[in-house]
Amino acid sequence: MATQLAADSYAKAQHDKLISLEHVTKHFPIKKGFFNRTVGQIQAVTGVNLDIYRGETLGIVGESGCGKSTLGRCILQLIRPTSGKVIFEGQDLTTLSPTQLRPLRRDMQIVFQNPYSSLDPRMSIGDTVAEPFVIHHMAHGKKFQDEVKTLLDLVGLPKSAYSRYPHELSGGQRQRVGIARALALKPKFIVADEPVSALDVSVQAQILNLLMDLKKEFQLTYLFIAHNLGVVEYISDRVAVMYLGEVVEVAPARQLYEKPLHPYTQALLSAISIPDPNYDHSQRVLLDGDLPSPANPPSGCRFHTRCSYNIEVCQQERPCLEEYFPGHVAQCHRVKDINHL
Ligand code: SF4
Repeated sequence: MATQLAADSYAKAQHDKLISLEHVTKHFPIKKGFFNRTVGQIQAVTGVNLDIYRGETLGIVGESGCGKSTLGRCILQLIRPTSGKVIFEGQDLTTLSPTQLRPLRRDMQIVFQNPYSSLDPRMSIGDTVAEPFVIHHMAHGKKFQDEVKTLLDLVGLPKSAYSRYPHELSGGQRQRVGIARALALKPKFIVADEPVSALDVSVQAQILNLLMDLKKEFQLTYLFIAHNLGVVEYISDRVAVMYLGEVVEVAPARQLYEKPLHPYTQALLSAISIPDPNYDHSQRVLLDGDLPSPANPPSGCRFHTRCSYNIEVCQQERPCLEEYFPGHVAQCHRVKDINHL
């Protein structure tokens, strides 16, 4: 029922793009030697085209090092893309100067992965949550104290947390502080970068439910980055799968989990442990080898070195993202043969 509602809300929202990514690429130079010469490029993100619709949660999954976090930071302009456009409400953020970006930063916030290192241990929780108000000159004196206390209450922290310090809180409570700080300026869009992966399993569900409640209450749009496929399925309306800096499949969440089209997505999903003693583990699709180096990605389809369906064309030509069902796109030369479409 929940996934049906999610699919319906996706269908309604899909005409209202909040963010469009056009060929977003981020390469980091590799410097070496006495003269610090550039000897290569880490191709962290390459040619990503993706729309994020108002009010949806778009999950991004992939192995560590596939470029998910870099993409999230490129959208927020915390890292400037090497090329491509990030269009937020019709405005290309990549063309704006830091001063022009400043008012837009209120609309776009981030929740970091590690609640232990994302909070300044010398700042009280009250000062931490109030920091965005101070930076943007948005509230003063008693008014901002009241606002901060309201935010702490919203994320399920007691008012007494106001004068405490990060070391006095548990991991889950610290992540709630991170969420309160992200919400302070009433943003439209939040990048949640692995927000529960550093937390105990028992606390993860509480934080996920909190994020879902806040999304409804404030009509937020999330980009939810995670490597845990179960977590992404639980929270997302749509899911994008990344491999070695490229988006290889995007679909409504239920469809992606029920009928993945790309061999990489099929392998990722088949790696989820299934608590059923009768489950036939021989059906699993196993990935060969490690993720290749993003400094020297394979030619053609970047997945060909690990794909059991690999044929000659895969090594020579980069496949394009093509739509196979409404809203379901995949980047593979052999989607039709592999999936008997
Ligand atoms: Fe595998 Fe070829 Fe498809 Fe790449 S294009 S995923 S190598 S079948």
